[in-house]
Amino acid sequence: MKIIVLKFGGTSVGSIQRIKKVAKIIKSYSKNYRVIVLSSAMSGTTNNLIKMSQKISENFPDNEYDTLVSAGEQISCSLLAGQLLSNGIKSRSWMGWQVPILTEGKHKFSRIKYINRTKILKFLKSGGIPIIAGFQGVDKKLNITTIGRGGSDSSAIMVAKFFKADRCVIYTDVEGIYTTDPNKLNSAKKIQNISYEEMLEMASLGSKVMQPDSIQDARLNRINIEVKSSFVHKKGTLITKRKNIVNNKIITGISSTDNDAKVTLLGVKDRPGIAASIFKPLSQNSINVDMVVQNISSDGKETDLTFTIKSYDLNKTKKLINKNKKISFKKMIFDKNVSKVSIIGVGMITTPGVTFRMFQALARKNINIQVISTSEIKISVLIKKRNVIKAIKCLHQEFNLDK
Ligand code: ADP
Ligand code: ASP
Ligand code: MG
Repeated sequence: MKIIVLKFGGTSVGSIQRIKKVAKIIKSYSKNYRVIVLSSAMSGTTNNLIKMSQKISENFPDNEYDTLVSAGEQISCSLLAGQLLSNGIKSRSWMGWQVPILTEGKHKFSRIKYINRTKILKFLKSGGIPIIAGFQGVDKKLNITTIGRGGSDSSAIMVAKFFKADRCVIYTDVEGIYTTDPNKLNSAKKIQNISYEEMLEMASLGSKVMQPDSIQDARLNRINIEVKSSFVHKKGTLITKRKNIVNNKIITGISSTDNDAKVTLLGVKDRPGIAASIFKPLSQNSINVDMVVQNISSDGKETDLTFTIKSYDLNKTKKLINKNKKISFKKMIFDKNVSKVSIIGVGMITTPGVTFRMFQALARKNINIQVISTSEIKISVLIKKRNVIKAIKCLHQEFNLDK
């Protein structure tokens, strides 16, 4: 029999009521497939665990963080396995280390390298439904690891890869991938099919419905992903290769972020290597610098440099810049009240004038653009956070996504 991987997100297993509903969905697949289930922690649990660690220390050790935050999935998986058992279905929960799911890389941001199939296959053949904890794994020194927030999506894709699953379905709290976050804009429309490339951009640019790494893994392994709701029985969205998609829209979707911060260094000495000296310590401390603009120096001596980072990295960034002896500048200013809004679509490769239309639409609404960055299939602008919804709304209309 063919294998199907079903992943349930936090809200889908967020209460006992919902777990009962999920058990029914799982059962409905078990007639035609051998089912492997991946579960996230019940919604809110991971956040609460993180908050507790922060109350202990701002520098809570990364290895203990992983042990702590992976605990959420242990609860949801055992409850779900227990529910299936009480419905008369053979089931068992499996933590990452029990499978084992081997990871490599740093704590908090490990990547799944290998999944041992032996025990799970044996259990499947005996008619059982394994409930595997998403988000977690174990490294070769037997430390518990996690793979980044929202990582259960990646766990599901990697399980689908190693078990050569026929299908991989991501169950969540919305009906699929929408043109923009349906919880932010009512007129957002469900997308039938979306390419890996566009989904990867949307996810990386703030659409948290899928974790970016999971899309990268799916693209590399050519795994089609179905995203659908665990609340209503409706067709969802297929994430697949570009060739499978017919789309006449220039823009496929709009994403926005809500945890960016902008840092500006005024009066930076303008000489070769200065940008590298500023960014080196940030990169050594795993601080991801996103958008960057440097003004052309008017006098050849000094320039201003602006860049964005995640707002939770702001304090660390300030400290690193202030103690950096290799750079000199007159003043550092920062702003946490910024957001990045991006339009994404393979259609823009062949359509001229998209940038102009985006800027004009924002200008009509009096929205000031602070920083711009582009790639082949996306244009991002940094704007004031309070203008985000207004910006999404006008861009959604401008590129006919309402229809
Ligand atoms: P899960 O717990 O199932 O993993 P997440 O909370 O991680 O669910 O992701 C689902 C949420 O993603 C939705 O509730 C929605 O608010 C948000 N989201 C952001 N952008 C989009 C989009 N373009 N399409 C659908 N949902 C989106
Ligand atoms: N429970 C983890 C988190 O909240 C993983 C996930 O939900 O995918 O980030
Ligand atoms: Mg998620």
